Amino acid sequence: MKQQNLAIVGSGLVGSLWAIYLNKRGHKVTVFDRREDIRKINFSGRSINLAMSVRGWNALENAGIKKDVEALGIPMYHRHIHVVDKEDYIQPYGKEGEAIYSISRGVLNRKMIDIAEANGTEFRFEEKVWDVSLAEAKIFTGESEKEDWQSHEFDVVFGCDGAFSRVRHKMQRRSRFNYSQEFLDTGYKELTIPADENGNHVIEKNALHIWPRGKFMLIALPNLDGSFTCTLFMPHDGKENAFEALDTKEKVMAFWEEHFPDTLAIMPTLLNDFFENPTSALVTMKCYPWTYWNKVALIGDAAHAVVPFYGQGMNAGFEDVFQLNQIIDRVGGEDWQPIFETYQEERKPNADAIAELSYRNFMEMSSKTADPNFILRKKIENKFAANYPELWMPLYSRVTFSNKPYAEALQRGEEQAAIMDKIMDMAGIDKIWDTKVVMNAIKEEAELLDDLSEQIEA
Ligand SMILES: Cc1cc2nc3c(=O)[nH]c(=O)nc-3n(C[C@H](O)[C@H](O)[C@H](O)COP(=O)(O)OP(=O)(O)OC[C@H]3O[C@@H](n4cnc5c(N)ncnc54)[C@H](O)[C@@H]3O)c2cc1C
Repeated sequence: MKQQNLAIVGSGLVGSLWAIYLNKRGHKVTVFDRREDIRKINFSGRSINLAMSVRGWNALENAGIKKDVEALGIPMYHRHIHVVDKEDYIQPYGKEGEAIYSISRGVLNRKMIDIAEANGTEFRFEEKVWDVSLAEAKIFTGESEKEDWQSHEFDVVFGCDGAFSRVRHKMQRRSRFNYSQEFLDTGYKELTIPADENGNHVIEKNALHIWPRGKFMLIALPNLDGSFTCTLFMPHDGKENAFEALDTKEKVMAFWEEHFPDTLAIMPTLLNDFFENPTSALVTMKCYPWTYWNKVALIGDAAHAVVPFYGQGMNAGFEDVFQLNQIIDRVGGEDWQPIFETYQEERKPNADAIAELSYRNFMEMSSKTADPNFILRKKIENKFAANYPELWMPLYSRVTFSNKPYAEALQRGEEQAAIMDKIMDMAGIDKIWDTKVVMNAIKEEAELLDDLSEQIEA
């Protein structure tokens, strides 16, 4: 493709990565963001952190920037579960050595903007896009919705402007544009576990900590400066165990003493954080189509926002970027339209699948991780997967440690769950779980599944 003049709306994680890819293809790239340049904002590396897994790394590696980002991540090899009045225990994420990586969103974003800028991208911060003329790939920016706007015309506009995308908003007004948005009753608030006086982590560093409590849970991910960023997920409304109910310092303290007593000593800023930090909402957003002619395409959260319980939102957005780049090579030519059509047709089922998986994982993280039956089920599954890796890749691994399509992971996960339901119904399963009888019973069923999928592929 010859050099083109391309615009990206949004300098977030997905927009800045896509800019790097487009620079490498020789295009002229301008990125607009309504925010101030994140590199000028003072934060101590203690901003929200994200879990990066294989799909994210794959997209970074393909752009040649994996090494630049690796130094920013802390590997988390397992879930470290904190249960009231019981010993903590761990649940490995994958095989030995497999980890997801905790990375500060702000630090990562700064790095990627630096790299994109060094590769030639022009960033225009504090320029909010108010409107888009889809057919002309023209965007309108200005100080406020009412004031005079400046127009900027491009060959193509990419909407990487997040879950509440302005670019998508314009596409929504067209006929036959499907759109749905669903908020969870559960919201979230960020809190902190600071480092000790020597800058060290005060709880296990290489783990994602979870305090599962049924309808609510606390999680903590490590930061490079020795602190942890914690997130409390809890219903917005309700008379107890809800954000609405925790409206005084006394109530928060009483709640914490009852449910998270082991964290009180290591969260000295709890009350301050609780009342200073906002309570935010969680949304799943689906839409289609994702593109308009050969002029506009949505990427990342602008096309598909998911709830964060599989840690895949950014990873899925990075995978969009990786795949769109491959599709450009595969389809070839000078016209974006067939490229865009292939992109949306191939990615949409996978975006829907990760939305569903993310929603289901909320249940798993908040209530099932503390359920003895669930723990036994995981133990059996992990043992079988370790013995017969060619027959059984656990769902979590398929999503997190592989690049296999999300839609395939969802389907395989359901088939495996049906097998495990039968196994868990075996008499005395808690006593015979690691015997040959159980392993053989799973093997028989798993081989049938395997034969079936080979036939389908053939
Ligand atoms: C609590 C929480 C935890 C999460 N944890 C994980 C995790 O562990 N792993 C993971 O993979 N994902 C996680 N995610 C999801 C992840 O944060 C998102 O998927 C990712 O940030 C999407 O990136 P994006 O670039 O598409 O959008 P965004 O990060 O939202 O960036 C959009 C950009 O567009 C700009 N913008 C918006 N409107 C305009 C406009 N009109 N004009 C100009 N600029 C505009 C914004 O300022 C912003 O810079 C989590 C999300 C949440 C809420």
